[in-house]
Amino acid sequence: MTGGFFEINSCTDILVEKNSPFFTSGGFYSKYSGQCGRNGHYKKCPFRPFSPLNSLYCRLEWVVLLLRGQNNFLSKRYILQAIERDSMTDKATPPVSANILVVGGGISGLTTTLEAAEAGYEVILLEKEPSLGGRVSQLRQYFPKLCPPTCGLEINYRRIKDNPRVNVYTLAEVENVDGVPGDYTVTVRMNPRYVTSECTCCGDCEKASKTEIPNEFNFGMDKTKGAYLPHNMAFPQRYVVSPQIIGTEDARRCKEACKYNAIDLEMESKTIDFKVGAIVWATGWVPYDATRIENLGFGRYDNIITNMMLERLAAKNGPTQGKILRPSDEKAPESVAFVQCAGSRDENHLPYCSYICCMASLKHATYIREQYPDTEVFIFYIDVRAPGQRYEKFYDKLKNDDKVFLIKGKVAEVSEDAAGNITVVAENAVTGEKIRKTVDMAVLATGMQPTTASVKLPADLNYTDDGFIINDFEKGGMFATGCANKPADVVTSNQNATGMALKAIQTLVRR
Ligand SMILES: Cc1cc2nc3c(=O)[nH]c(=O)nc-3n(C[C@H](O)[C@H](O)[C@H](O)COP(=O)(O)OP(=O)(O)OC[C@H]3O[C@@H](n4cnc5c(N)ncnc54)[C@H](O)[C@@H]3O)c2cc1C
Ligand code: SF4
Ligand code: SF4
Repeated sequence: MTGGFFEINSCTDILVEKNSPFFTSGGFYSKYSGQCGRNGHYKKCPFRPFSPLNSLYCRLEWVVLLLRGQNNFLSKRYILQAIERDSMTDKATPPVSANILVVGGGISGLTTTLEAAEAGYEVILLEKEPSLGGRVSQLRQYFPKLCPPTCGLEINYRRIKDNPRVNVYTLAEVENVDGVPGDYTVTVRMNPRYVTSECTCCGDCEKASKTEIPNEFNFGMDKTKGAYLPHNMAFPQRYVVSPQIIGTEDARRCKEACKYNAIDLEMESKTIDFKVGAIVWATGWVPYDATRIENLGFGRYDNIITNMMLERLAAKNGPTQGKILRPSDEKAPESVAFVQCAGSRDENHLPYCSYICCMASLKHATYIREQYPDTEVFIFYIDVRAPGQRYEKFYDKLKNDDKVFLIKGKVAEVSEDAAGNITVVAENAVTGEKIRKTVDMAVLATGMQPTTASVKLPADLNYTDDGFIINDFEKGGMFATGCANKPADVVTSNQNATGMALKAIQTLVRR
């Protein structure tokens, strides 16, 4: 069986930092060294093995690109070619059996897949979106180390590519599961991408398209065209034609623009039956719909955004190229308020603690402080949950920042004035006084809801009242991991996903 699906020849897309080790330590220039060489990750570059000769080669390559004007030193992307070896949904003879099926290609699904495959088991990984990475690929940085998440993801992509026991299908969704532990038949719908593995990511179809579609990856803060790359770090690096333009003049324009004949508008969805012994559900989470928290004004006031929107604003491949600007007038904010537990720990919304949003807001304070040294940050909280020594340390650092103000008090209401300023009203839980704070913009620390809260999976699974999948280890065979099972950070998701790889393997061994 052939596995993996990519052959990446070189860095596909580099976000250049001013303090890149390319310039400072002379490290191996790669996507890793460009972003986090300080952690030594550059030695794990997926594109070329670390050696002095390769290091020199990469630097020369970088200079050539620079001279050609194909990058600048402040975050402009450049694309070298990522070449697919095997295609995915359009594979001529897809493998129809494997030991384990993993559903969901976020950090949890990737981890389960790799842990099981590297232990010698054949794994099929399904992802419903056109690219892997899940929510983590939307983050600007990871707490607590503040590394770019693309680093960890790319290492996993490299491991997938190198492992013949892994087969990945994007745009794939489970329609039905029959059978018992050790012997499942899973019917999967493969949706069309309308773009074949001949795609070179030249972008001509995107230029030709006249349709504009709100960009979901950036929470609608900008638009994509009718043909688009999901985002510049997308894996696979392959364009997609939106189903919204199929059958229109715009689709024809895109096809005509493609000189590689990579657009196939006749592609149709198809179903495939897979035989597997165990299934791991890694279907993740969605941000809680903030428009439902009526007293917090999201959707009514332009300058109230959510924490995930802030991640995209701060990301160099985001809608503002990494500049945190307030939406109404693109002003650099001089003060920002964070509203913790926005929806979480509230019987009317999410009754549970979402686990990560205290740490996320502390991290967001670092984004703001880095960009705007004089900007004040006000964090309104019920309790600060920063579990474990490393998170506690991170919290301590922020507590000692004289521009960061942590205020114990639940926000009761917000309003926006004619100039777009936001007033946050809360009761200080320590002093009992009512606080009114007017800021340039506010960020709601909205929590996580499992994707299975709204749509249940077509399998015999049990759920909590909030929609998280309950693991039934007695029954075995099917397991949930990561945020499909509970709210979790990346480290916890990884640990849990490794455990579920073992549970899946035990199902096979005990058969
Ligand atoms: C504002 C914010 C900031 C955060 N920052 C950090 C941080 O700095 N550090 C940290 O450790 N954690 C952070 N987190 C938490 C982190 O995002 C999660 O731990 C992580 O996303 C969990 O990964 P997952 O794979 O379980 O789920 P997801 O990332 O949601 O991945 C699930 C995948 O499954 C796919 N999928 C869903 N349903 C199906 C289906 N039916 N069929 C096929 N595929 C499907 C999805 O498309 C997705 O690709 C943050 C969270 C928030 C809200
Ligand atoms: S024009 Fe063709 S090759 Fe170029 S990005 Fe579009 S689909 Fe890919
Ligand atoms: S992590 Fe913090 S902000 Fe999020 S729900 Fe828990 S206490 Fe509230």
